[in-house]
Amino acid sequence: MARKPIIVGNWKMNKNNSETKAFFEKVDAVAASENATFGIGCPFTDLRTAVDNAKNLIVAAENCHWVDSGAYTGEVSVPMLEEIGLKYCIIGHSERRQMFGDTDETVNKKAKRLIEAGITPILCIGETEAQYDAGETEKVIREQLTGSIADLCPKCVGNMVIAYEPIWAIGTGKSATKDDAQKCCAIVRDQVRVMYGDEAAENVRVQYGGSVKPGNIVEYMACPDIDGALIGGASLKEDSFIEIIEKTK
Ligand code: 13P
Repeated sequence: MARKPIIVGNWKMNKNNSETKAFFEKVDAVAASENATFGIGCPFTDLRTAVDNAKNLIVAAENCHWVDSGAYTGEVSVPMLEEIGLKYCIIGHSERRQMFGDTDETVNKKAKRLIEAGITPILCIGETEAQYDAGETEKVIREQLTGSIADLCPKCVGNMVIAYEPIWAIGTGKSATKDDAQKCCAIVRDQVRVMYGDEAAENVRVQYGGSVKPGNIVEYMACPDIDGALIGGASLKEDSFIEIIEKTK
């Protein structure tokens, strides 16, 4: 079965409710497609507005906690996301790993709780510039996946989205070459194969992320192991995200 491409914008800590509404009013209709899934990950405060204004775009949270409720000031639980109808949640983004203490172990707990709730994790991994320079990219990818997708069922992993985002390419304009991106996404798929077998590996959708824009989306999407993209900066402007959608449809 062919994998359906999935392109998701990650707004990070950008946009309020009125900006979210304006964006969805302009972009949602363009995102209607049988061939690919398009969506936006947005701040918690924007999720309700996003869901209410999305007919075609899928909406993702940018994080969650793995415990359902309790004394965790500032956190948001999976049942809270479930209640507003979310179907996707980004976890383990490198900004969270680097600035907010997310680890393979906590990302794994988040993945488990999301899967239990029927919410698809968009699980991020990727090496630092120093690791890239030291030739450790493959080792880092395999290690991060070993921890982050541990103890799941093969079918659950097959239904996930894994985003390979080299940290040195995020927000820098210095995107990975299509050959590097393809090679690394193939390593992601191979590690899924090692851990969960052929079917999970064939089904899991692997995204590339890091300075993806209208000018390079087509070459990434032409790579056999790249099934989509996770897009920061270029998802913030309606026009550039629309251009990316139209080039992918
Ligand atoms: P940029 O597209 O701005 O490089 O960000 C990538 C990213 O971090 C998406 O999650």
